[in-house]
Amino acid sequence: VRQHQQKGQRVGLVPTMGALHAGHTSLVDAAKHHCDRVVTTVFVNPTQFSPNEDLSRYPRTLNEDLALLQMHNCDMVFVPDADTMYPPGHSTIVHAPRIGLPLEGEFRPGHFDGVTTIVCKLFQILPTDDAFFGKKDYQQWCVLRDMAHDLNIATRIHGMPTIRERDGLALSSRNRYLNPAQRKRALGLRSALDACENLFQSGERDVDSLQNHLQQTLASHLIADDQIDYARIVCQRSLQPIPSICEPCVALLAVHIDGGRHTTRLIDNQELDPTGS
Ligand code: AMP
Repeated sequence: VRQHQQKGQRVGLVPTMGALHAGHTSLVDAAKHHCDRVVTTVFVNPTQFSPNEDLSRYPRTLNEDLALLQMHNCDMVFVPDADTMYPPGHSTIVHAPRIGLPLEGEFRPGHFDGVTTIVCKLFQILPTDDAFFGKKDYQQWCVLRDMAHDLNIATRIHGMPTIRERDGLALSSRNRYLNPAQRKRALGLRSALDACENLFQSGERDVDSLQNHLQQTLASHLIADDQIDYARIVCQRSLQPIPSICEPCVALLAVHIDGGRHTTRLIDNQELDPTGS
């Protein structure tokens, strides 16, 4: 990275956990567009999984990932193992900023500390000019933006649009867990966000009405064994609740799609901007 920078080249970073899909490669493409060189990291970060989550089951498809990265002209790939990133005796963590407390912070305690710790470490190892994250993980992007600001990290943080299947399902490495019936229910996330956005576009600005519509539409696509962690509308900047929509907001969803032995947790979101920008 430093050799490229010494030649006056800009270097972009795309951190991932692998099992790459078109959402990840859109970040590589954006980085290629914005920078002279791109480095992608592939690391399933154990510290962002809690004991009851899917760490051991998380898909690992390194050969396919490398082929895909080559197709997208990614210049460098960093694939550390867990002992390299967390050698015995490792004990320092980066505590996530305040914006990580609600929503995912309520339902996945400690998750964002794992995310901020690993991304901060990646920024030290790969001191790139830019880093690209998906707004599909909306709160994660906010957390990393605030961490970079608070810790005077020089890397510029970019939030990029969500890439979806043709029918609207946000691409996710976890989609591969879904059978056809579960996948159909998973489409409820996008349907609920669309319903909410349509009501917003028709002029509704009352948060309770929009949120009720969001929650009811979502629930109508799910079965009793699925579980909604949250379906809320909050301020885009702070992720705090707002009384009415007079500033940019975002509708955020997190749902467990039941699969018998395993459930698949999916998230999605939709920005709602009354200023029309
Ligand atoms: P992950 O491998 O799930 O940790 O994701 C790595 C990066 O890809 C994160 O910045 C995600 O927000 C981003 N990402 C994942 N899915 C999508 C998607 N459907 N569209 C855009 N970016 C995505």
